[in-house]
Amino acid sequence: MPIARNGLIHAAVVMLVGCAVNASAGDIADKAAVTRPQPAAAATVASNRAWLAQLPFSDRQDFEDARRGFIADLDEPAIRAADGHIVWDRGAYAFEAADTAPDTVNPSLWRQAQLDNASGLFRVGERMYQVRGLDLSNMTIVEGDTGLIIIDPLLSAETAKAALELYWRHRPKKPVTTVIYTHSHVDHFGGVKGVISQADVDAGRVRVTAPEGFMEEAVSENVLAGNAMSRRAQYMYGALLPKSAQGQVDAGLGKGLSRGTVTLIAPTDSIAKPIETRRIDGVDIEFQLTPGTEAPAEMNMYFPQLHALCIAENAVHTQHNLLTLRGAKVRDAKQWSSYLGATLARYGDKTDVMIGQHHWPTWGRERVGRMLADQRDMYAYLNDQTLRLLNQGYTPMDIAEKLARLPEPLARQWYARDYYGSISHNVRAVYQRYLGFYDGNPANLNPLAPVETAKKTIAWMGGADAVLKRAREAYAQGDYRWVAQIGNQLVFADPGNRAARELQADALEQLGYASENSTWRNAYLTGAQELRGGVASMPRQGTASADIVGALTVPMFFDYLAVRLNADRAAGKTMAINWDFTDLHEKYAMTLENSALTYLPNSFHPQPSASVTLERATLTRIAAGLLKPADAIKSGALRVTGDPATLGALFGMLDSFAPSFNIVTPVAAP
Ligand SMILES: [Zn+2]
Repeated sequence: MPIARNGLIHAAVVMLVGCAVNASAGDIADKAAVTRPQPAAAATVASNRAWLAQLPFSDRQDFEDARRGFIADLDEPAIRAADGHIVWDRGAYAFEAADTAPDTVNPSLWRQAQLDNASGLFRVGERMYQVRGLDLSNMTIVEGDTGLIIIDPLLSAETAKAALELYWRHRPKKPVTTVIYTHSHVDHFGGVKGVISQADVDAGRVRVTAPEGFMEEAVSENVLAGNAMSRRAQYMYGALLPKSAQGQVDAGLGKGLSRGTVTLIAPTDSIAKPIETRRIDGVDIEFQLTPGTEAPAEMNMYFPQLHALCIAENAVHTQHNLLTLRGAKVRDAKQWSSYLGATLARYGDKTDVMIGQHHWPTWGRERVGRMLADQRDMYAYLNDQTLRLLNQGYTPMDIAEKLARLPEPLARQWYARDYYGSISHNVRAVYQRYLGFYDGNPANLNPLAPVETAKKTIAWMGGADAVLKRAREAYAQGDYRWVAQIGNQLVFADPGNRAARELQADALEQLGYASENSTWRNAYLTGAQELRGGVASMPRQGTASADIVGALTVPMFFDYLAVRLNADRAAGKTMAINWDFTDLHEKYAMTLENSALTYLPNSFHPQPSASVTLERATLTRIAAGLLKPADAIKSGALRVTGDPATLGALFGMLDSFAPSFNIVTPVAAP
């Protein structure tokens, strides 16, 4: 069955991690050898220096906060998996010690990269600790009367385990009695088995609390478009880049993604009401649900005894994404802003410290209130001003240009800067949410496809040599955005044009060096690297996460099969397949016709082409690549009646997705 390691596992696990890239050090070193990063050009140096006058670099409050309460760091900066591969290596960022940004890094991003380097165990306040900098996200530890309450056990079991051990080395070794997931993104639950086991939960020794809808959202958000999201995530996080002043320096929310074992334990307890209060091991917690904000299922927590607010990921020390560059559904800026306003009203005047599940805490009621109000206003501004301008007829790039800088004094608040989200791509996301891809101009309703557009454009502009000559002149003048547009036409018209590829790589690279946004920088520099050295063959896959595959529902599997159906191969074919999951007591009538694979739950075809009987675990094992369908049939785990060729024929019509499709050059014909 072709639902193999490259299929659903890839989509459901690696994509959920957001980073499919497990390039070995060797792969990266090889890539570095064939690329030729250029120094910062004069225009880039000037642009980066100009930033120093635009922002209050003398304000060092964030550096104080990022170090406040420091207890200890790991003795050894690298965290390894059982097989020895490095899961997390903070040592790779030692080059970021210098206070002055190198010419190849925007000074504002350099500042953020330095702040994100603060790592270790920190005391936040009474009963409350955080481990920061051991993964993209933070692990918060609250000391109950008898045990520990862990909020968000990081992305990988290995980093979560290291974080808890670091805590235990410096604090009493109490057992973990509660795990709380603030939201459904994998960097907030994937490491759970590094701090507790399923057996602990089954035996009632540990409770797991999450916002309502957590499981569905945790496993579903990234499945159907997973392969594309994974590939695009490589660009966004710069996972294929060397870590250097000419490569990846940060990921905005933290240093990057760990590369360990992604696990999942289902919650035992859901928070379903807008406000719910619990006493957990002597600690009072008021949960505030914030659905449809940074994540579809998310919640804040207020600790009345501690005067502490956990804002989850709803307010971080950067402008967040309304639409992440890896691709996703657009988030609702208005709803996000509204919840921040509600949080401010409810908790603002009684919060002495606000923690987030990324970055460092904020102390003091006035500063907490200011940050919540500013973040409320930032998302409202992005939403409402985009709508104002689109109602005046402006199109996405018009709006991005017009709203290039937030209003003062918001623009000078570091936590409103563009390190992860950006005004430019967020306002386009708002446009997309309300009006979609079409800008309303019929000239843009049916343009030629990219390669044909490029060929005609270059030919009509006098041919590649003439265009290249002018593009080089524009490059010399520092007009990199324009060069990147025209260079892309040159490359798409003829991907074999080496000179065009090199010029395009140089232009993208300068844009990366000048970018305040870490995800833009990573995207530009990855594009440059692939133009110079080609697309790296997909390195070894991440560890298959049986936990997440096991959490997918049967309809999610079927939906993913439907996404893989090759319409040409299915043309003219019809099938009616009954599926009977005996342990789940779930029945499905699956239909193939018109090159569309659909199903009806709680139903059987009266005259199926084939009927399949199996247990849920068999599907999981087949999907995880642990069991071949033929062996499953032989062992009786998979029973097929009717036409025995049906199932094989169906799976023969499914595509497998190449994990490393082209981006900065035309997509290769399949
Ligand atoms: Zn996160």
